[in-house]
Amino acid sequence: MQRWTGVPIRLSSPDVSTDDARLVCTTLSSMDLSGGPMVERFEREWAARLSSRHAVAVSSGTAALHLATIAAGVGERDLVITSPFSFVASANVILYERALPVFVDIDPETLAIDPGQAAEAADAAVAGGAAVRPWLPPSERDRPVGSLKALLPIHVFGRTADLSRLIQTAARHDVPVIEDACEAVGASHGGRPAGSIGRAGAFGFYPNKQMTTGEGGMLVTDDDDWAVVSRSLRNQGRDNQSEWLAFNRLGYNYRLDELSAALGLAQLRRLDELLARRAVVAEMYRERLAGVDWLRLPAPAADASWFVYVVRVSGDLDRDGIIAGLDRLGVPARAYFPPIHLQPFYRERFGYREGMFPLAEAAGREVIALPFHNHLDEAQIDFICAALKVAAGRH
Ligand SMILES: *Cc1c(COP(=O)(O)O)cnc(C)c1O
Repeated sequence: MQRWTGVPIRLSSPDVSTDDARLVCTTLSSMDLSGGPMVERFEREWAARLSSRHAVAVSSGTAALHLATIAAGVGERDLVITSPFSFVASANVILYERALPVFVDIDPETLAIDPGQAAEAADAAVAGGAAVRPWLPPSERDRPVGSLKALLPIHVFGRTADLSRLIQTAARHDVPVIEDACEAVGASHGGRPAGSIGRAGAFGFYPNKQMTTGEGGMLVTDDDDWAVVSRSLRNQGRDNQSEWLAFNRLGYNYRLDELSAALGLAQLRRLDELLARRAVVAEMYRERLAGVDWLRLPAPAADASWFVYVVRVSGDLDRDGIIAGLDRLGVPARAYFPPIHLQPFYRERFGYREGMFPLAEAAGREVIALPFHNHLDEAQIDFICAALKVAAGRH
């Protein structure tokens, strides 16, 4: 098979229209580049779309998750239940507050946290002592820990975690659920938008997401106190009412600028169109790859949103070899995600080893994210699917 010679195939790509660009240019000409009307409008329309009381625009999805973690009162050596099959940010924010992640393995169907094991971990965390020991990071098992402060499920690849059960568990122990909805703009659970169901939801607008602001994020909550604290923390700890340069808490510069907010606003107004096109691209893949017996395609889920198109190759195939083979044919693809507990920093800091979260590790070994964005056409997808079979040595 010859290498692809057409327009280079990108792994991901934003979908920015000339109208989107025009709103950014108009904003630039307005000279209000920070703290202006675009951020306010973006927040108002985002909150309206999610039927949430508050939306707080921030500089990244990570910043949104971090602010929620602080609002939840997560402090030194407190425990936050989450899963390791995610982008590293969802666990890093726990470490920013010197708290400890309680990793729980995933449900192999949703790839999100296993709700049954999350309930067991929560019971153990509240019981403390010997009960919680096996759930702690290996390096922390002989040291005292604080209390359970939050559940932080990740909606992986645009498919929601089993929020109904997680919220029951959280309510039983009177702790909040923080949804990492960074990959789930447009998804829903039980008829409600992902990100609007827990105490807070975090969204990210990096250019590979369903919609983008360049860099940016949004925190969504119905909790008035969380909103006030988050608005203050994103702006160096100033309160709305306080005098210029009166800082009431240790804050950050997590502000979103006006240009990014303008792009976000324009993208938000086209969000249904952006999501619909992604679904068309996903369907093109499904038509071509359905019935390939060594591949597992994303399970159909009516209320999911397409973030990436991730296939799983059967365990006996050389996944990394397939990715390398695709690359030689001009098709970028990625192993997505390598589990967080096996990242070098986490291994060193916490003593995690292979075998501790077998389902997350199996997913991490078998997944391939294929090129996925709104500009892919039929010819490119034909080629990618053919190349995948060639790279795997199976026709
Ligand atoms: C994209 C993403 C984030 C946030 O990423 P930023 O680059 O900080 O916007 C957080 N969690 C998950 C699971 C993500 O995919």
